This record gives sequence, structure tokens and C-alpha cells, in this order.
Amino acid sequence: MEASEQPPQMEIEGEDIPIPVAKEPPKIHRLDESVVNRIAAGEVIQRPVSAVKELVENSIDADSTSINVVVKDGGLKLIQVSDDGHGIRCEDLPILCERHTTSKLSTFEDLQSIKSMGFRGEALASMTYVGHVTVTTITKGQLHGYRVSYRDGVMEHEPKACAAVKGTQIMIENLFYNMIARKKTLQNSADDYSKIVDLLSRFAIHHINVSFSCRKHGATRADVHSVATASRLDAIKSVYGVSVTRNLMKIEVSDDDPSTSVFEMDGFISNSNYIAKKITMVLFINDRLVECSALKRAIEIVYAATLPKASKPFIYMSIKLPPDHIDVNVHPTKREVSLLNQEVIIEKIQSAVEFKLRNSNESRTFQEQSLDPSPSSPMATIKDSPISPSATGSKSQKVPVHKMVRTDSLVPAGRLHAYLQVKPPSNLERNSGLTSVRSSIRQRRNPKETADLTSLQELTNDIDCSCHSGLLDIVRHCTYIGMADDVLALLQHNTHLYLANVVNLSKELMYQQALHRFAHFNAIQLSDPAPLPELIMLALKDEDLDPESHENDDLKEKIAEMNTELLKQKAELLDEYFCIHVDSLGNLSRLPVLLDQYTPEMDRVPEFVLCLGNDVDWDDEKNCFQSIAAVLGNFYAMHPPLLPNPSGDGLQFYKRRIPSSGPEDEGYSSKSIEDDAMGDDFEHELLLEAENAWAQREWSIQHVLFPSMRLFFKPPNSMATDGTFVQVASLEKLYKIFERC
Ligand code: ADP
Ligand code: MG
Repeated sequence: MEASEQPPQMEIEGEDIPIPVAKEPPKIHRLDESVVNRIAAGEVIQRPVSAVKELVENSIDADSTSINVVVKDGGLKLIQVSDDGHGIRCEDLPILCERHTTSKLSTFEDLQSIKSMGFRGEALASMTYVGHVTVTTITKGQLHGYRVSYRDGVMEHEPKACAAVKGTQIMIENLFYNMIARKKTLQNSADDYSKIVDLLSRFAIHHINVSFSCRKHGATRADVHSVATASRLDAIKSVYGVSVTRNLMKIEVSDDDPSTSVFEMDGFISNSNYIAKKITMVLFINDRLVECSALKRAIEIVYAATLPKASKPFIYMSIKLPPDHIDVNVHPTKREVSLLNQEVIIEKIQSAVEFKLRNSNESRTFQEQSLDPSPSSPMATIKDSPISPSATGSKSQKVPVHKMVRTDSLVPAGRLHAYLQVKPPSNLERNSGLTSVRSSIRQRRNPKETADLTSLQELTNDIDCSCHSGLLDIVRHCTYIGMADDVLALLQHNTHLYLANVVNLSKELMYQQALHRFAHFNAIQLSDPAPLPELIMLALKDEDLDPESHENDDLKEKIAEMNTELLKQKAELLDEYFCIHVDSLGNLSRLPVLLDQYTPEMDRVPEFVLCLGNDVDWDDEKNCFQSIAAVLGNFYAMHPPLLPNPSGDGLQFYKRRIPSSGPEDEGYSSKSIEDDAMGDDFEHELLLEAENAWAQREWSIQHVLFPSMRLFFKPPNSMATDGTFVQVASLEKLYKIFERC
């Protein structure tokens, strides 16, 4: 093969001008069969774990109830798979390891109804081309078994009679002994054993009527050990541990309409308390262990948007389709399959997952509550994650350069943090004023009651009708790069860069959410109910230029009293439809959750209550709902925190005023900031609070706002022209400029 790749070269020495020479076409010849087989083998057995997968699948096909795997040197020295299945007939042994010999398929049409994992008759043959294979097997009713070794597809000797226990044992030694380059790469990577353990863990939780074990050669303890059971959850518990099963929810979805899709899915998915470093997705389609990146991504997106803190879920799914709706013959290692109506199926599963996550709040404890109060970063909770024992807290990690390219809009959070090594969200979340807020669960109301409120339908229709399709595409597929200033975020969409006003965006998103979740909110419970009159007084004083003046206090008190009365009168409506709870004494005690994992800034409660009293039109139903949703939207929007941003000019604000200054000295100390940035001239506590508030906000923008917008937001037409989105550059043009530099 190598020889044929280089066409013959002709050099004419002593000539100034090269004369074009008619090149002879290279000769085509038939490859030696052993070369063909070795090339094919390298494709089927890509690494030790692929050999294990083939062998275990053969054991499952042989109706085994117990499968044991032993591995030495990550599988390069030895892989041994023993089962108690039906065994192999002695007379079949001579052709067992030839290519395309199988007991599972006769005609091509059989593929349409195939139930076994294997069908190509290639796996064992391939192994003999890249390793030394020895088979020991016994069939039912025989007094003894047979053992025979293979090389390059053929027996090395006649099968020898030997003592054997029920079933088959297949041993591969010296894998890739004749493929030096591959062996070297694999020796260096050294992680195949963990891949093998992972593989068997996956098989073990699906084939629950089979017991599996996997251990290193010479080790007494197995790294995977499952016993046959009737309960899937027990199987998951024995393999992944109780810390995983404790946080799992059952999920089922099916469709039986041939015009859309026909399938059944059942599985388990993790809830908001499951925190892990990476997603675990175990997917079986018609009992085949496969990968489906489209489905995985669809689920990841839902988690990122609904449970940003638990966005690396554990997923086990088993999908069953009619055999003729699935093509198993699309990948040499059978790792992928193709499905009829794949998109519809994925969409249905995605919605089912989303529905499950949204409705699972009964069992939910919020992260804020469960955080360990120790000073270490909350990221350390990852350490407790059952499936990532190697996680070592939040130590800053070096980012490989190749990871610094930000191109994938589907990474919901963007990757700017990879460049900046920003402090983890950590203590920010803990100190962000959430201490005064406790999330609690509200009983769900009957959705029927509200489904037919025409005014609400009109409002949600208005949102759908005025949705701008171009902006929708940007919102769905953009990558968040970072904050350009206090209100503008930089986004990349295809090759364009945009500045987007996060205050406008979040205000509108919250407004839409308030209407979409209408009457179905979970609640944020205030630990200390807040008296409305005091809140309103606070808000009115805030509006004054001089907060110390007591001028018009009487008037303010009157307004506060009247507004409180008004809100008390409207308490039932506010509570029923918007989960804003005002008790009979006029205390505010509950607020709605508009976006999961997001709590508004409590500093804005006074302003919110004042607006609720002043800005709502209580007379017309549609206007009433719209204006309450708008007031909520404004309150929950991600405004810049009230404390100035300490990372810019705002730092000035935190300098201590010099106490001995004259009465007219309203300014700050004149010492330069650089001189004493770390000195005592700063209000450290305030500064820290401000830093936390700003970092918390940026975290929410990146991890809550943008992922949620991707799922739920319908950008109104007005945003195309009101400055909410501004295109700042096209990368193609920038590249042209850089090229010239
Ligand atoms: P395939 O699984 O595609 O048929 P393989 O090369 O994996 O091809 O296996 C060839 C044949 O060997 C199988 O069809 C099966 O009849 C037999 N075989 C392989 N492994 C086992 C086993 N563990 N127990 C019983 N029969 C086996
Ligand atoms: Mg097979």
C-alpha cells in the first residue's frame, strides 16, 4: 500500500526548464488477505476496551448469567472473559475465528429483526490478527471441554480435550504485539483499565439478570461486582453506590404514533442534589450499549438551563424501538446506531426530562442550604461526588491551549473562565444575601383552573407573535464570552460579535417566565416576613434626594398605609397567581421562583413592593396580569448591584472618609488608590460584599441567564432596534485586519 501512494518521480538533471513528464499511473494490485484482515482488525479492535466489549457481548449473546473479566496491564498483556453460557460446539472450533463466521445471522434481511449484539462474525477473527487468542469451551452434556489457540484466523493446533466448567473462556494475550505504534500510544495512556471498569459498570446496570465482575489480574478484590437482581435501582446502587441512587428519579416516556415515532424509554435521571464533575450517560437502545451525542447534548442543555448547579447529571436510559426502525449496521464497533425519526424521539425525551426536572422540586434541597459552612470553597462538594473520586476540589487548573478556542455555542456557559481563571462561584453564592432567604416548596395547584384564562392566553400569544426570528436564532445558538461593562455582555454568534444588554434581556425573560409559570410557581420563603409599610417607607425615602430629611414623612406614611391596605385586599390574587404572599398582618413572606436556582436581589424588595402598589392596573384582568408580571420582571432582572463595581472606578467608593475632615469635605481621601489598595483606608467589609455581589451576578448571567434564555426566551421584535442587541464586529472582517498586521 505504502509503495502505491508515491507516484514515480523523474528527475532530469542538467535541465534549466523542467519538462513535464507523463507520469505512469501506479499499478493496482490485490492486497494480501492477511494485510486486509489486519487493517480490518485494527478498526474493530481499536483498543483493549473494544475487545472486552466484543467478548462480553458474545457472552451475553450466549445466554450467560455470570460474566467475569480479568485484565492485566490495561488489557495489553491479558484479557480474559469467562462466562457460563451455552458454549461452542467442538465441530465449529476450526472456523470460529475466521472472518465472517457467525451463528447469529444468515441472510441480510435477518439484520432487520436481529436481537443479538453480534452479527458480523468479525470480532474473534479480528482479535486473532492483533493478539494471541485461546478459547476454552464446553457445551451442555459433554464430559470434557476443548481448548484451542488461534493466530491470524486459524487454529494453531487441533482442539485439545481439557477439564472445563460450564460455558466459555476466551483469553487474549499480547494485544497489538504486531502493531508497535498503537501499543506504544496505549501503553502511555494507561487508562484502559478504567475504561473497562466503566464499560462493565454500564453493562451491569442494564443486564440486571446477569452478574458481572471485573478485576485486575492477581487482585483479590473486584472493581465491579454486581449480582443478578430484579431491581434496576439495586443494580445501580451496587455499581455506582447509594450516593447516586439517592439522587435519582425514574423517568418514562413513550410514543406509539407511526406518523411521528414509535418507541418506549425508561430510565433514571439525577436530580438537583446530584453534583458531579462530568456527565455520566448510560444509553441502551434495544439492549445495545450505544452512544448518541445528539441525545446527550439535548439532555445536557436541559440540565444546564434548569439545574445549572447540577448540570453534570447521571443518566441511565433504555430505549426500545421496533427492530425494523433501527439500523445497527452503521459503525464498525457497533458503537452507534441510527434510528427512524431520531429527531422526534430526542425531542420527546428532552421534553420529558425537562418536565421531570421542573416538577421534581418536592424532593429538592437548595444548594444554598446544603452548603458546608466551612471556609473552603463549596466547589469541594464535588469531592463527595460518588463517581469522581479523583476530583480534588477547586484548585486552579492549567488550561491546555487547545481548549482555549471558544467555538461551541452548545457549551452553555461559554468558556471565558478558562482564560481568566476567575474565582469559582463559591463563597459568592453563600454570601450573596441569600442567607435571609429560604426556599421552600409550595403545593402545586390544579393547572386546569388557570389554563382557560383567556387574558393569560392572549398575553402568552402576544409573546409568541412578536418573537423576532433572527434574534431567536442568536439567543439559541450564541456563546457567552463575558461582560464588556456593567450591563453589556459580549456574545458570539457564528462569526459575529454582539453586545447585549443583560438588564433588558433578563427583565423581559423574567416577565415571560412570570406569565409562563403563572399559578405554578415554586416559592422563595422569606425567613423573616417583612412588614409592607416599612418596606414602602424605605422605598419612598430612597426616592428622596436627602434620605435624612423627615420632610413629608406624614404623607409617606399615608401612602405606605394605603398601599399596604390595597395589597392586603389583593393578597388572594397575588398569592394564587403569582405566589406573592402577603399575610393578614400585611407582611410579605413569600416570593415566586421565576428561574430555578435564581433569587432576586433582596435589596430591591422595597422598590418592588412600592411598584406593586403604584404601577399595577387592578381593573382590567389582562392589564393586571401584564403589569404584575412586568413589576416582577423588573424586580428579578439582573440589574447592576446597588454597590458600585469595585473592579473599576467604583473602587473609590470604598475608601474610608477621613474623620477629621472639615464639614464641607464631601470627598474621599486624596491618597492614590495604588498606594494603599490593600491598606486600611478601605471599608473592607463593604468592599468584600460588593465584590461578592458583582461576582455572584456575573455567575448568574453566565450560568442561569444565558442557558435559560436558550431554552425559554422569545426575544420581542422591539429588541432588534432598541439597542438591546448591537452587532459590534464580524470576525471575518477582523481576521482580514489581523492578516494585514
Ligand atoms: P458475532 O458475535 O458477530 O457472531 P464473533 O466473532 O464475535 O461474531 O463470534 C463468532 C461466533 O462465535 C458467534 O456467532 C458465536 O456463535 C460464537 N461465540 C463467540 N463467543 C462465544 C461465547 N462466549 N459463547 C458461545 N459462543 C460464542
Ligand atoms: Mg460477537
